[in-house]
Amino acid sequence: MAIQWYPGHMHKAQKQIREVMPNVDLVIEVLDARLPYSSNNPLVFELRGGTPCLKILNKSDLADPQSTQQWIDYLQQTHNVRAVALDQQKQTQVQSILTLIRQMVPNKGSADKPITALICGIPNVGKSTLINALAGRIIAKTGNEPAVTKAQQKIRLDGYITLLDTPGILWPKFDNENSGYRLAASGAIKDTAISHDDVAAFAGEYLLAYYPQRLKERYGWQTLPSDEIDLLETLGRQRGCLVRGGHVDFTKVATILLSELREGTLGPITLEHPEQIEAEEAHFAQL
Ligand code: GDP
Repeated sequence: MAIQWYPGHMHKAQKQIREVMPNVDLVIEVLDARLPYSSNNPLVFELRGGTPCLKILNKSDLADPQSTQQWIDYLQQTHNVRAVALDQQKQTQVQSILTLIRQMVPNKGSADKPITALICGIPNVGKSTLINALAGRIIAKTGNEPAVTKAQQKIRLDGYITLLDTPGILWPKFDNENSGYRLAASGAIKDTAISHDDVAAFAGEYLLAYYPQRLKERYGWQTLPSDEIDLLETLGRQRGCLVRGGHVDFTKVATILLSELREGTLGPITLEHPEQIEAEEAHFAQL
């Protein structure tokens, strides 16, 4: 898949992480709760070694709570990994992250032995929002475009915790092509080579398989469309997305479906599940 991920910045991130890792007590990996596998950065796993890792399933307000719990149980099967759901609109949840950090590094966290935690995450998972919330002041730029942190930042938090923010950009998973679609469907990546219509078709197929009831409720359907193309056709006609000759404007209906999915109008939706990922990994390993 031809996605431009600023190779220079990625190289810089890799180099810096490698350099600081020996002094890091805890890795905090910010993930998107809707896609904890696809929003993971393979490099973090590779460079982390045995360092404890706190996986934060952020934007949990947009994810299916049952699936989030499944993911937490699944991720915590790995030694030295804790996983937690986070909705950053809830201040108390943000504060409990500080408690967790201290719990995970019990032998440190005093004036003479501060805790060093490295925070990382692919663009748009909410890493900057979290840094600002933990610090209680604006440190990192937030927004939808990937902001490139230029230098390694050291942020002092309450409780003798030093947060290291990685410069450069970390990339998501690319070895599983479905991950590209899921990242695009969630809105995490925009400048992809996959067309908007294809992403909507992928999302439609997924919703039909995993969330048929939500589709029925949201769009008032008695019966479900037969497949993703039928879904886009039906929704397009219903919403008046027509072009000359009465044909459905697929790009327009694709935008509607994807916006509703991303904004949570279809309810909280998780875009991948542990058993599905295991099956996909087994499939790709055979190829
Ligand atoms: P970064 O690129 O990882 O630093 O991501 P940002 O911190 O800039 O956040 C990207 C977008 O996600 C912003 O629009 C945030 O407001 C939004 N965001 C962050 N955390 C949450 C959350 O818990 N729930 C929801 N719904 N949105 C969030």
